[in-house]
This record gives sequence, C-alpha cells and structure tokens, in this order.
Amino acid sequence: MELSGKTVHELSAMLRSREVSSVEITRDVLARIAAVEPQVEAYITVMGDDALAAAEAADKALASGEPQSPLMGIPLALKDNVCTRGTLTTCASKILANFVPPYDATVAKKLREAGSVFVGKTNMDEFAMGSSTENSGFKKTANPWDLGRIPGGSSGGSAAAVSADMCIAAVGTDTGGSIRQPAACCGVVGMKPTYGAVSRYGVMAFASSLDQVGPLTKDVEDAAIMMNALAGHDPLDSTSSPGAPPDYTSFLNKDVKGLRIGIPKEFFGEGLDEEVAGLVRGAIAQLEKSGAVAVEVELPTLPYGIATYYLCATAEASSNLARYIGMGYGARVEADNIIDMYTRTRSQCFGPEVKRRIMLGAYALSAGYYDAYYMKALRVRTLIKRDFDQAFEKCDLLMGPTMPTPAFRFGEKTDNPLAMYLNDIYTITTNLAGIAGISLPCGFTSGKLPVGLQMIAPAFEEGRLFTAAHAYEQSTEWHRRKPSL
Ligand code: GLN
Repeated sequence: MELSGKTVHELSAMLRSREVSSVEITRDVLARIAAVEPQVEAYITVMGDDALAAAEAADKALASGEPQSPLMGIPLALKDNVCTRGTLTTCASKILANFVPPYDATVAKKLREAGSVFVGKTNMDEFAMGSSTENSGFKKTANPWDLGRIPGGSSGGSAAAVSADMCIAAVGTDTGGSIRQPAACCGVVGMKPTYGAVSRYGVMAFASSLDQVGPLTKDVEDAAIMMNALAGHDPLDSTSSPGAPPDYTSFLNKDVKGLRIGIPKEFFGEGLDEEVAGLVRGAIAQLEKSGAVAVEVELPTLPYGIATYYLCATAEASSNLARYIGMGYGARVEADNIIDMYTRTRSQCFGPEVKRRIMLGAYALSAGYYDAYYMKALRVRTLIKRDFDQAFEKCDLLMGPTMPTPAFRFGEKTDNPLAMYLNDIYTITTNLAGIAGISLPCGFTSGKLPVGLQMIAPAFEEGRLFTAAHAYEQSTEWHRRKPSL
C-alpha cells in the first residue's frame, strides 16, 4: 500500500523506526492529492510548499531522538473554518474569499506544536451550514465511493480527503452532525467531542453554544490519538472545560463485557432506510456477542430536535454573522454610502442558505417572537438534555444510525431545505445536549455505499465511545476498505 493509505499509528511507528521520512510521506500524500483532486475536489487550498517545509522540520525533530508526539511528521487536513496563520481561511464563503488570518486557531497551534504537517484546507458548506457540502461558495466535493453523490456535510472535504487518502487524518467541526454525518457518508471515523472539551478559539463561529471541533480519521485508534492533541483547557475560550483531559488511547483494547448499550427506539422509526437499519442492528448484535448488553431506552423529545436546533442555531448564526459587513477584513462591495455598502456586500457575498439562516434567526430573535420561538426552543433544549440524562441512567452509551439514509445524489435535496434538515435527525440532539458522539463504518449497502454506526455517551465520557468503537472495529474489516478512484 502507498504511504498515503496508511493510518497515523502505522506511519508514526514507521517514522520512529526511521523506515520512512516525513518528507517521503508528505510527497506521497501531495502526489495522491494531485492525482485524485480533479475528481474529488476536497480542498479549497493545498499547502504544498508549506507542507514540505514542515515535513523537513519534523524529520529533523525525529532525528534528534527526543520523544515526540505520534503526530510528528504526519500530514493532516483542516476544515476551512479553522484559522491558520498566513494561509487562506475562507469558511467556503465568498465573503471571506481573500481572508488570510494573522493568527492560528488553538487547535491549529496545538497540531503544529505536535509537529504535524498541514497539507491543506478542506471544502465545506458555507459557514458550516449544510449536510452535503453543496452549499460551498466555491465547489462541490464528491463522495469518493460514488462521484455522483455528496460526501455529507458540512465537513465534507475533510471526510472525503481522509477516505480518498488525500491526507492521513483531518479536523472538522460539528454543530449538528457535521463531523459524524460526512464520516458516515465517506466510510471513515468521526468524533464530536463533549461541548467544551476542545477549544473553539480561532474557529469561525456558526452557533457558538453548539459548535465543537473534532477528528476525522481512518480508524478509531487514530481518533484517540487526534483527541489527545486537540483536547484540553484553553484560557482563550471561555467555554473551554478547565478539567485535564484523559489519555484517550488508554480506553482502546478494553473489554466490553457487561457494557450496557441503550437502543433508543425513536432512532429506528419512520424515515430510516431498511438497509441502514439492518447494518446498524447487525453491528449492535456483534457487540452483544462480545459481551455487551443491549437495553431499550426512550428519547421521547427526539421529534422536536430539528425544530429546536433550527431555532437555536439560526438565532446564534444571525448574531455571529453580523460581523461580516465589508469592514476590517473579508470582501467589500463598494457603494456611495455605508449602509448600501453593507447591504451590497452581504447580498452579493453570502450564499442562499446562509441568507436563509440569518433571516430565520433574526426573525426568531425579534421582539414579539423571541418568547414564542427562541425562548421556547431553549426550554425544549433543556427537555432534550433531560431525556439523555434519563436514558443514561439505564445504560452506559447509546447506539443507533448516524444518518437515516446512505449518501444521496447531488441535487437530490437542494430544492427542499426541510428534507435536507431531516438528515440530521439522529445527530443534532447530541449537540443540543452538549454530549459526545462518534460515527464509525458498520458496513456497505447493496449499492456499495458506506453506512455509519453512531455511539453517544454522557458529557466527558468519550472514553466509553473509544472502548466500544474500538472493540467493534477490531471485529470487522470495514475500516480497511478503500474506494476505487
Ligand atoms: N446540517 C446541520 C446544519 O445545516 C449541521 C451542520 C453542522 O453541524 N455544522 O446546520
């Protein structure tokens, strides 16, 4: 296998034994990008020269013999809403088409300090609003398993890049499913950590009470390695958890005997594709064979998840996006007076979905509607969180599908925002409750499309997800399959 097809832990071992150099790995990944990017279009920016310079520095550090992070010399991709000092960061929006941040997001800084090599910035839905990456202001990313289909979203570029070996691992963000959902579509592993586990400093805000940064990787072990580098307190993010994170890799290779898996019956209701349901149930049965115990639980507020999310998220987005007015940074469309300049800049540089969200959010927050919509949504959000608390009294973690269907075709849902929003039914309540979730491959449909198994754990119990996900993964071969490009 080529180097680009390997995992972080495999390459890290090869780097330490001096079997390969970071420059060799990076060259291989860049060659793979050059070969398949015309078909996949995962990247907004490829950082070729910077990557090779970082790889040379990593090789020097490795030669010093000092102990190094397992990410030293490993080529990674970052979603284009993560600020990278000196490198274009657009959020896939025309309003930031020329924005070069003067600073690194905390997660970018941490990954650089670990010695990883940034190979590029990945495509996404504009401002992370979407489930298909079709809302990018620049390009459509294709699903490496079927180029006529979406890679999921909004971290579609990151998921496609990992799946197509155009990086070794990647960073995404998840506000309502944007890491787990594309991971499911592209057959890779994606984790949304607990709210506050990973710093949001320097990550362009969509809905600040829901946004979380997390890894997209080729296997579960790599996700734990990435979490070790990403998590931790950051004084620059006031919502960052002060507690010291555990060593996430310590939860791998553990027994699942007696682990109680809660199966929310609402996760298997109307709208769920039969093949997806069958594969997810098969995965749960497999874990039962290893000694886990399945119990049925209820999440009665699940049907209110979409409405609650689309009030909370749009309200926050309408406020967060008020800063893009053609002043200070970003694009500007000139006019005779300042109000016209704001209006033209925003009208011409935001895409249709972003405008829809700003309007929905401003409406929900407006005097007269605030109590009826926004306040009510906040109250339902509390009930949703309570449902999870009650479910976790009966089990250690929850399992179900990540998405109701496999990846759909381009254009299939673009004319129907509600159908698009319904994709997130199983993922958004995790964000509303602030808890942790992971998606990992659990098989393929008869049409050869990957399907994701989702696991959800209480706040700061990512360890349970790693234990269960790793145990399942070790008993399957799904994560080793590669799309043929
Ligand atoms: N698909 C959801 C939305 O459009 C979630 C996006 C996300 O998690 N960033 O808002």
